[in-house]
Amino acid sequence: MRKLTYLAMVLVLALGMILGACGSSEETAEVDQSDDSAAVTLDNIPPYDGEICIAINGNQPTFTDEELREAHESYEFFGDLDQSGRCTAAQASLSYDTMPDQSQESRGDISEVHPSGWHSGMEWERMHLIAWSLSGENANPQNLITGTHDCNYNAMRVKEIETAEYLEHHPDQHVLYRVTPVFYGKEQIARGVQMEAESVEDKGHGLCFNVYCYNVRSDGAVIDYKTGVVDVSAASGEAKKPGDKRAYVLNTNSMKFHYPSCSGVADISDWNKEEVTATRDELIRQGYDPCGLCEP
Ligand SMILES: [Zn+2]
Repeated sequence: MRKLTYLAMVLVLALGMILGACGSSEETAEVDQSDDSAAVTLDNIPPYDGEICIAINGNQPTFTDEELREAHESYEFFGDLDQSGRCTAAQASLSYDTMPDQSQESRGDISEVHPSGWHSGMEWERMHLIAWSLSGENANPQNLITGTHDCNYNAMRVKEIETAEYLEHHPDQHVLYRVTPVFYGKEQIARGVQMEAESVEDKGHGLCFNVYCYNVRSDGAVIDYKTGVVDVSAASGEAKKPGDKRAYVLNTNSMKFHYPSCSGVADISDWNKEEVTATRDELIRQGYDPCGLCEP
C-alpha cells in the first residue's frame, strides 16, 4: 500500500525532478523517492495566457523506475476522495485490454455523479481523469471532476486521443498514465490537471508527455473556483445570463435539449438534431427536457 500513500501525497506538481527521461534508454541514477524537495506547487505554473495546455518539466513525466517496472502489467488505480470530497489522482498502466471495445459498447451514463464544485446550468462538464476511451471507467466518482469544455475538449481530449492511437497501433504494449487534478487550498474546482504518460516497453520512444491543462474558460466567463459558480455574463459573444436566449441543440426524437458543447450531441443523428436559439423556459414549454449529462 506504500504506493497509494505516495500517490496521495503527490498532489503537487513535481516539476524539477527527472526520475527517468523518457526517450532515453539509459537508466538514471538511483533517486530517493522520499526527496520531494524539488516538487513545486501551483505557484510554479505560469498564469493562463491563452494556451490551454502547456508542457511542464521539459515534457518529461516523473514516474519512478519502480512504477515503470510494475507497469508491464495493466492496472487502474483511482485515489480516494479527500476530506473535501475532491478527486486526488488516477494512475493506470493502460493497454489495449483496458480500452473498451467501442464497436461493442458505448459510454455509460455518468450524470448521477456530482463532482466537487458541480452546479447545473453553468456549462460545467464531468471530466474524466482517465478517459472512458482508455479505461472503460464510467460513473466512478474517484475519476470525475468538474471541468470546463475548454479543458475537457481542447486540452485533455487531445492527449487522450494521442494515447489511444498509440495503444491501438501497439496492442501488446503498455502506457503508464497518471492524471492529477490540482486544487488550490480548499477550493472545490481544480485549477487544472497534470497529465503524464510514458510508453513502457519502448521506454517512452513512442509516447511521452507531461503537460498541465488549465481548467479555464476561454470566453471570459468568470469562475469562482471556491464554489463552482460561474458568472457567464462576462462571457464574450451572445448574452448568456440565465433567462436569456442562447444556443442549444435539440434531439427532436428523445425530446432532450443540450448545450452545443455536450458530448451527447455527437450521438444525435442528423435527422433528429436541431440547433436553436431560445431560452431554457421556451424549450421546456415546448416539451423538451434538459439533458442529464450537460444539465443545461
Ligand atoms: Zn447534453
